Order: sequence, then structure tokens, then C-alpha cells
Amino acid sequence: MGPGDRVPIPVSVQIFTARRVIAMTDSDPEAFGCLGEWVVATGSVAELRERFPGAVVTDFGDAAVVPGLNDAHQHPTMVAEDLLQVDLSPENVASPTEIAAALRERADSTPPGEWVRGSRYDHTKSSGGTILARSDLDEVSIEHPVLVVHVAGHWGAVNTPGLAAAGLTDDSEDPPGGELGRDGSGRLNGILYEQALFDLAYPAVARREPVVPPSGLEDRLRALGEYSRMLHAAGITSVGDALVGPDGLELLQAAERRGELSLRVNMLVAYPHFDHMCRLGLATDFGGARLRLGGIKAFVDGAVAGGTCLLEEPYTGGGGHGIQTVTREELTELVRRVHDAGSRVGVHANGDRAINQLLDALEAADEANPRPGARHRIEHCTVVDEKIVERMRRLGLVAVPFGSYVAYHGDKLVGYYGMERLERMFAHRSLLDAGIAAAGSSDYPCGPYQPLLALQSCVTRRAADGTVLGDSQRITPREALALYTTGSAYASGEEGIKGRLAPGHLADFVVLDEDPLAVDPNRLSGIGVRETWVGAEQVWP
Ligand SMILES: [Zn+2]
Repeated sequence: MGPGDRVPIPVSVQIFTARRVIAMTDSDPEAFGCLGEWVVATGSVAELRERFPGAVVTDFGDAAVVPGLNDAHQHPTMVAEDLLQVDLSPENVASPTEIAAALRERADSTPPGEWVRGSRYDHTKSSGGTILARSDLDEVSIEHPVLVVHVAGHWGAVNTPGLAAAGLTDDSEDPPGGELGRDGSGRLNGILYEQALFDLAYPAVARREPVVPPSGLEDRLRALGEYSRMLHAAGITSVGDALVGPDGLELLQAAERRGELSLRVNMLVAYPHFDHMCRLGLATDFGGARLRLGGIKAFVDGAVAGGTCLLEEPYTGGGGHGIQTVTREELTELVRRVHDAGSRVGVHANGDRAINQLLDALEAADEANPRPGARHRIEHCTVVDEKIVERMRRLGLVAVPFGSYVAYHGDKLVGYYGMERLERMFAHRSLLDAGIAAAGSSDYPCGPYQPLLALQSCVTRRAADGTVLGDSQRITPREALALYTTGSAYASGEEGIKGRLAPGHLADFVVLDEDPLAVDPNRLSGIGVRETWVGAEQVWP
């Protein structure tokens, strides 16, 4: 550099551009400039160069840049733990023999007396619909307690040493909200449903110290890192962890403290820990842009894909109305307490009867203590009708419906719910038309986490076999993208800093091979994710 040369100003502004930038604002800019982890300006490349001389310009070329995708409800800390267990997913083991062999291999390298755990089990796909029970697992080992958990986490099975470790005998009673499976003679068969499983292995929702200890922190950190890279590869930059307990908090805090948390995480803390939070004076929205406490999580009913959600009209083809996991009184009380404490609830309610009960509780809480802008959330909010939608609108609630269930679980849904009811399930169109904020969510591992598949599902409403389910609920590609950007940002109270590529927003973005607003919607899930950036730093590949 010689005299008279222009001295570069030592700012680290980066300018990003591509053939198309979809900013989720009124008009799309040609480029955006970032300082630190924030977007500070948008405009043409020429304007930004002039404003920030010396800035590095990155041109992604023939690509579309969209705001980082935000999955408002899934289970990253649970997945990190699952990844450390024996992988019993149908892609990995296809028969009871293979399942037993995989578990036995782990048992051989585990000291006697320590737990052997299998995760991601799906009996419908890998053991012909029959659930492996106590006797099958006793054949794996009687020197180790063995636990196998279904992919959706609502039930699991243990062997005889597992029952003994849990202190369960044939005389034990079912826990509230759970059930101990029994054979014809009343003997425990090792299958544990809902709370019976949670008490054993899920610190977030156990009523006492769980019997199965979480894996070591270092192992879980490594698994969380591995899982984060899977999510980044799908374009995800932010997630809601929809069931956090002490083990999850420990993991996420450790990851953040070490600078290893490449995802941004909005935590919904499980309701059993609410009292502790209150005593500490902790309320929701505490935390920063990397890790924050976004709400309190509770449940009303069962699962959509399992055919256990609570419906007003019985299941098509019989089978009753589904299950309720909390009494009306308990629900009313918990909603009121969280509401009065100035926090946000995110309540799992799938069926229309469950949602109506939740709305009763929310209306009562709001009437006694109006809190405009409380922005409570209905997690899943699967089966709605006009009245429900209107009640939600009046209360300013946020819906967090499944994005990809039509595409992924479509084959199961018709039998459970019937074509007519599917016209008011995952009801994105009805919700958006009523002006209700809706977020994008996968509920992974209960559904696939890939947001582009969810976009395709919401736009086409096509199941894997091509059948269209609930055609009236179709939304546009832009509306579908909004679910996973601006919608999820609103659901966590972060619409001021997430979901758009605009000044004052976080520089979280994804570089896609093709323009998701222009491709044939049936090809949305096939769009390649080239790069993912969080806070103007590349996190993938
Ligand atoms: Zn969930």
C-alpha cells in the first residue's frame, strides 16, 4: 500500500447476494449486509459496496437465499439422547431377530447391571405389528436391565431386570396418566405406557428421580452436535425444543457456554418444573438469541399418528374418542397458574375435543386476568372447526401445526379420521384466513424434520401414494415458507429478530439450489440445500 491509497476501514461487514434473495419482507433486495451476527442493511450490491467500502462480497450465484428455517416444535435434546442408544429404526433393523442381535451386541460391551437402551423402535415396521415385550428382552440379557422405546416416545418395553430396577411388580398400580402392560393372567408384560415410561426414563416429565440415568454430558454434547449438523443440512437454523427438563437444560447450557451450540434454541420447559421456575422468579422470554426460555409445556391428549388424540366425533371405523392425559380441573389450574405468572403456555392439544377443553381453560384464565399479547400456543392444534378457529382468534393464540404429516403419515390418517375430517386437520388455510399466527413444526422424531418436505406437504396436501388429503387446506408456497420463518419467529416472541432478512434481524439464512416459490410444488422436497449460515457464520457444510 502506498501513500494516497485508501486506508480500508476495519469493519467486518459482509455482503451476501444471489440470483434471488427472498427476504420475507414487502420487496426482495438484491443483497444484504451483515455486521457481526446481524443484518444491518439491504439494497443493491452497488449501494451496499458504496456504503461499506472494504466489505467482503459473497455472491452465491444461481441460487435462492431464504431466511434460516425455524422448526418451532421438535425434540433436539431427546434426539441427542436417542442417538446414543442402540438404533432400532426400521432402516437399520428390519426384524425381531435383528433387533435382538443389535441389543445383544450392545449388552456384550456394557458392564452387567448397567442399562442397555434401544431407541427409534417402530413395531409396525420392524416386528410385524407385535410389540417386543419382557420375555423377548429377557432373551437379550438377564444380566442387564434393557429398555426399548418407541420412536414417538409414548411407550417403551423393559425386561425383567428392568422392571426390578424400576421397583415394579405384578402388584404395582398404574401411575396417574400411565399404564403398566399386563398379560392375560395379570402379570406385567414389560410394556410401559405414557407416565409409566416417563417416570422410568424422562427427567423432563418424571414425577421422581428417573431410574434410567441420562447418558454422560460429553456424549450427549457430541450427539447434539451431530444432530445439529443434520438439521443444518436441511436448512434449519432455529428450533423449539418442546420438552425440556433438567437434563436438557444442562446439555443446552453446556453447549452454549462452550460456543458449540450452532442452532438457536427456544425451550419449552416441562410443566412439572414450573414451581421451581416460579420460586426462582424465572418467567418465559428469559435468555438470549442463542438459547432462551420460550414457554411452559403441558399436554391434553394423545397422538395423531398413533390414533389416540381426543376427538369430538369418534374415530372413523370405531375405537372411541381417544385419550385425555390430564383432567379438566388440572388443565384449568395449570393454564391459570402459568398465565398469572406472566409466562406463556404451549399446550399439546391435537383433537378438537382436547382443543375445546384447552380453550375453556385459556378463556377462563384470560377473563380473570386479561393479558393481551400473552401469545399462548396450541402445540399441534390438529383438528379444528370454525368455532375453534374463532375462539383462537379472539384470544390471540398461536397455532403450531404439523408441517409434513399429510406427506409422511397420510396413509394412516384416512383410516383413523376419514376424508371429511381431514378437510379440517393441519388446517393451515383456515387458520391463516382467520388471521391466526401459525408456525412450522415437525415434532421430530414423530415426523420427519426436513422443512422442505413440510412445505411440499402444506402446498400439495399429497400423501406419499399421491392421494390428496384435505385439499381445502392448501396454502401457497410463500405462505408455507412463512410458517417456517416469520410464523415460527412469532411463536417464540422473536419476530423482531428472526424470520426475515432485514436490518435488525439475525443473519441466519439458507442457500438453496432452486427458488422454492417458483419450482413445481411437487418437487419442493427435492430442492438442494447448498449452505446454511447462522449469525453470518457458515455452519453447513
Ligand atoms: Zn412434541
